[in-house]
Amino acid sequence: MINLKGLEQHELESLVKEEGESSYRGKQLFTWIYQKGVFNFQEMTNLSMSLREKFSSIWDIQEIRVIKTQISEERDTTKFLFQLSDGEMIEAVLMYFEDRLAVCLSTQVGCAFKCSFCASGLKGWKRNLEPWEIVDQFLQIQKREKDRISNIVFMGIGEPLSNYDHTLKAIKILHDPIGTGIGMRHITISTVGIVPMIKKLAEEGSPIRLAVSLHAPIDELREKLLPIAKKYKIAELMDACRYYQSKIRRRMSFEYTLIKGINDDLELAKKLASLLKGMIAHVNLIPLNPMSEFPYHAPDSKQVKAFQMTLEKFGIPVTVRQERGQDIQAACGQLRLQVEKGKICA
Ligand code: SF4
Repeated sequence: MINLKGLEQHELESLVKEEGESSYRGKQLFTWIYQKGVFNFQEMTNLSMSLREKFSSIWDIQEIRVIKTQISEERDTTKFLFQLSDGEMIEAVLMYFEDRLAVCLSTQVGCAFKCSFCASGLKGWKRNLEPWEIVDQFLQIQKREKDRISNIVFMGIGEPLSNYDHTLKAIKILHDPIGTGIGMRHITISTVGIVPMIKKLAEEGSPIRLAVSLHAPIDELREKLLPIAKKYKIAELMDACRYYQSKIRRRMSFEYTLIKGINDDLELAKKLASLLKGMIAHVNLIPLNPMSEFPYHAPDSKQVKAFQMTLEKFGIPVTVRQERGQDIQAACGQLRLQVEKGKICA
């Protein structure tokens, strides 16, 4: 059976036409699935009973299953653990801000990039998520939340640009105004820095915000933290970022996880500032959320402040982003890892 979830509006219209029905039925299906979050044909009340029977006999609308939710003590973050039809698990996070609701979605099961402080890469890559599995994280969370989710960040498990086609398709679906209607400007893709894919995304011309995980301003150190840095040197990466900015004309974010004694030296802050000189850039400083699996420690708050002030002295806008929901393993891949290890029950 064809799973309708994960199809764009025009694909649904073609599908119903192939079945001898008017194309507007495809639009109705699109609205039911993505705008109303209805996944059962029998509840689609503007379709005749005979159409509901016909559609449910030839198509289905699959769902991923929420198997665990955790709400942070501050009640500003909810983490969702999903089980997929093959038994694999992924995570998504709902974040409450004063003026908006945002979700952080996964794009892969596991991750091949093995960044040295990230739980998602610990057990390697298993598979790419299908477009519908990416979209359904959003739909399942929106179904449980009365307020509208307005922002999406692709910062969950996996590297979005290495599941490029499926991520872009999911974005097109989530952007469609007759569905969830998330503005492209409210979507952020976070990447570890896959140079050719950054250039490819620039060619799309969509005003998607790009957040680049830099974590070190010199190659030698970056290579220790992020194995992919051996393939794409910082100079090449920054060229791609400047190219992206020239095409998309949006401020770029650079993520910098501060790790005690590793990359929190103020000389590195100066190097980072000179790297970003001339760009419309913003740095998110993220003090490490330590995990027993890694030999790294969180930096002192004084050092974080000093690093921030050094960047600001050079005119670089900085936000210190405390990891939300540390009590609920909200950093990427942590909850999945703990459940797989049996440390937390699903
Ligand atoms: S930080 Fe991103 S790219 Fe690196 S291992 Fe984690 S999920 Fe993969």
